[in-house]
Amino acid sequence: MQQKLILIVEDEAKIAEAVEAYLNKRGYNTAISGDGRDALDKFAVLCPDLLILDLNLPLISGEDVCREIRKKSRIPIIMLTAKSLEDDKVNGLVMGADDYMTKPFSPRELVARVDSLFRRCSDGISPAFNYISFNKGDLILDYDSYTVSKAGQPANLTPNEYKILSTLVKYPNKTYTRDELIDIAFGIDFVGNERTIDSHIKNLRAKIENDTTTPQYILTVRGIGYKFGGSKD
Ligand code: CA
Repeated sequence: MQQKLILIVEDEAKIAEAVEAYLNKRGYNTAISGDGRDALDKFAVLCPDLLILDLNLPLISGEDVCREIRKKSRIPIIMLTAKSLEDDKVNGLVMGADDYMTKPFSPRELVARVDSLFRRCSDGISPAFNYISFNKGDLILDYDSYTVSKAGQPANLTPNEYKILSTLVKYPNKTYTRDELIDIAFGIDFVGNERTIDSHIKNLRAKIENDTTTPQYILTVRGIGYKFGGSKD
């Protein structure tokens, strides 16, 4: 298997080097960028497989780097931030990051999240495709705009509903426990319980199912959790 290249965008050299050492030890190739402009340049030249992106950067902020990259790529992005407010996490995810870590973080845990993101991305949904359609266009997820349409109309999902749906869609045959959905959709730092998921699922069904009593997209697997039931076009 070809070695994956990870671009570490971080202006604090000590952090960047520590992360690099852990990733190299794990078998990943790495490059380091110390500011936002250099990050965009290196992204274009190196075509990395994953980005670790600090939010507070010189020249161009991490937010703007993320937005720029998302205009053309679905490359997995893990954001690093000193902020820990839930709002910032939601913003980061809406902006297009796939995962989030709050400083100070353990480089070992970061490597685990990198591994996990690569597993999630080897799901057959190529980053080159910017949308995925189910049940003859009835349900469409647009990965560029992070929007969902139902029967041709915007479904107006909240960021959390979008994260849950896009997680379920990635492995259509997999049954997710509520815990897994929380970890994968919201990240392992998420504070909430299993009822949080049930309540999001209820709202999500109201927006995308024809009949919420006999759902065709978000199926309940009794005693375990949920799975996706749409058929890909
Ligand atoms: Ca910084």
